[in-house]
Amino acid sequence: MNASDNAENAGSASAAAPVTSHFIRHIIEQDLQSGKHAGRVQTRFPPEPNGFLHIGHAKSICLNFGTAQNYNGRCNLRFDDTNPEKESQEFIDSIKADIQWLGFTWSGDIRYASSYFDALYEFALQLIRAGKAYVCSLTPEQAREYRGTLTAPGRESPFRSRSVEENLDLFTRMRAGEFPDGAHSLRAKIDMASPNINMRDPVIYRIRHVEHHQTGSRWPIYPMYDYAHCISDAIECITHSLCTLEFEDHRPLYDWILQTLDKASLHAAGDRLTTQQAFVLPRQIEFARLNINYTVMSKRKLKELVTQGYVKGWDDPRMPTLSGLRRRGYTPASIRNFCERVGISRSESVVDVGMLEHCIREDLDRNAPRAMCVLRPLKVTLSNYPEQKSETLQLPCHPKETAMGMRELPFERELYIDASDFEEVPPPQYKRLSPGAEVRLRGAYVIRCDEVRKDISGQVVELICSYDEATLGVNPQGRKVAGVIHWVPARHALDVEVRIYDRLFNKENPDEKSIGDYKQCLNPDSLQILSSCKAEPSLRSAMPEASFQFEREGYFCVDRHESSPERLVFNRTVTLRDSWAKISS
Ligand code: ATP
Ligand code: MG
Repeated sequence: MNASDNAENAGSASAAAPVTSHFIRHIIEQDLQSGKHAGRVQTRFPPEPNGFLHIGHAKSICLNFGTAQNYNGRCNLRFDDTNPEKESQEFIDSIKADIQWLGFTWSGDIRYASSYFDALYEFALQLIRAGKAYVCSLTPEQAREYRGTLTAPGRESPFRSRSVEENLDLFTRMRAGEFPDGAHSLRAKIDMASPNINMRDPVIYRIRHVEHHQTGSRWPIYPMYDYAHCISDAIECITHSLCTLEFEDHRPLYDWILQTLDKASLHAAGDRLTTQQAFVLPRQIEFARLNINYTVMSKRKLKELVTQGYVKGWDDPRMPTLSGLRRRGYTPASIRNFCERVGISRSESVVDVGMLEHCIREDLDRNAPRAMCVLRPLKVTLSNYPEQKSETLQLPCHPKETAMGMRELPFERELYIDASDFEEVPPPQYKRLSPGAEVRLRGAYVIRCDEVRKDISGQVVELICSYDEATLGVNPQGRKVAGVIHWVPARHALDVEVRIYDRLFNKENPDEKSIGDYKQCLNPDSLQILSSCKAEPSLRSAMPEASFQFEREGYFCVDRHESSPERLVFNRTVTLRDSWAKISS
C-alpha cells in the first residue's frame, strides 16, 4: 500500500514527502504486504528534552514523520523524560516549535514517557513477581565493578537471589520514598555472563529525589531509558521504532523486556489501536546518525558552547541547532531537502557541510528577492549629475522570476559603492573601478573615475566620478564595459548592520582525538559584525526572517530577534560560491 492518496492521518500536509527508497522503507513495505500490523504504520520521534534540537535530529524527524506520511500512518511526538535533572520546559517548548517549523505535525496529543510512570511501575512489579527483576543494594561503585568489562564477564550481585516477597517489599518502599538516592536499584535479571554488557542485569529503576517538570514530586524513583522506551513504544502501538545505530546493542534488551512482560497486559495498558489478537510488539530498527564536518553534533557539547558563552545562546546563527539554522536564514524546505539527499543507511559517514549550504543556496536562488547592500561603503560623487536631481530606476526583484515584480531605486549625485570594488593601482584584467577606468553601476549608468580623494592618513575616502547619460541600461555602440558593480544612493540608503558568519570550527573533525578538546578548534573569526553598511531603501519594510540575495555578496536574512524597523540587522546565510555543486557534478 502506498497511501499517499489519503493524507488525512499523515504527519503533515505542508512538508513534501520523501521519495527515495531505503532499507527501512523495504522493511515497512514487506510488513504491509504480509499484513503484519494490519496495514498500520506508526512511528514516533522521541527527543529527550535536555537541549535544543540539532540538524541530526532533523534527519530523524524527517525519517519518522516522513515515513508516516508516505504510508498514511501516524507519527507521535514523545518526550523521553526519564532524566528530570537535565530536562526543562524550555527545551520542551523549543522542540515543539522546531518540529512545527520544519513542517511536521504530530499525531494527536503530545506524549510523555512520564505519563506512563504508573504503567511502567506496574510492569516492574510484574517482572519482580515473575522472578525477572530484583532489588540490588550494591553501591554504584560496586555495581560498576561487578558489571565486568568488554572482555571479562560480570559477576552476579549478592542480592540477585532475594525472594520475590523481599523484592516487592523493597521496591514498593523505594517508590514510597523511604530510601536515599543510590541506596538501591531495580535490576532486570538476565545474564551477567552475556557478551553484551547491556544484558548484564541492567538497572531499570533508580532512586532520585528530584522534582520532575511534568510529575512534580510524585516520584522518588525514575525508570531508565532502555526500560521506559520499549514499553512506551508498545503502549503507543508503535510498529517501527526507528533509532540511531548506537542503540543496536540495546536491541536485545528492548526485545527481552517486551517479550518477558505479559503481552495481554501490554496491550491493555496501551492505546489499543488493534485488537489483542492483532497486537504485535514494536520492532526497533537502527540507521546511521548524521554527522557533518566542521560541526559538533552532541547535545552535551552544544550545551557547553551555550553555557560557557562561546556562542550567544542555542539559536546563535553559528549553531547547528534547528533554531540556529533558522536564525541564520535556512528554510524548512532546504533542511528537509538536505535530509532527503543524505539518505538513510546503516553505514556511518560524515557529510560535507557544503552539501547543506548547497541546499539552502538552491532554495534561495529560486526564492529570494534580489537587493543591493554595500558592506564597506565608499562614497562616490558624480560631478556631472545635477545636485537636486533624482530619478527613480526600476529593477527586477529576481532575474528569472518576473512574477516577483520590480523594485524602485532612486539614482542621485551621491552614491556608495563597496570599497573592495575600487583599486587605485589595479592588477591586470581588473574589471572594477580604478582611476580613469569605467564600470557599470548595476541597473543604472556607466561611470568613470576622475579623481581619488584621501584623508590625511592616505586612506581613500571619496571618488569623484562622472556618469554617461547615454548608458542607462544600454552600452552605446562600440563601448564595452566589462565590470558591473553594486551601489546604493547615498541620501536614501538605509544604515544597517550585517553579521558575517563563518564556520564555528576550523578543523574538519573537531571531535578528533588528537585535538584533545573540541573547543581548541573554535574559529576565532566565526563572527564579524559590519555595523555601518548601506542598504537600498526598498529593504525598509523587510520583515524578520525575510531572505534576500544581496547582489554579488551572498544570501542574507533579517535577524528574527535583534532587527528592528529603525535599525535592520541582517545575517549572512551563505556566500554565493557553491563548492559542493561543482564537486558533485
Ligand atoms: P545527542 O547524541 O546529540 O546528545 P540524543 O540522541 O541524546 O542526541 P535524543 O533527544 O535522545 O538526543 O534524540 C532523539 C532522536 O533523535 C533519537 O531517536 C536519536 O536517535 C535521534 N538522533 C539524535 N542525533 C541524531 C543524529 N545525529 N542523526 C540522526 N538521528 C539523531
Ligand atoms: Mg538520547
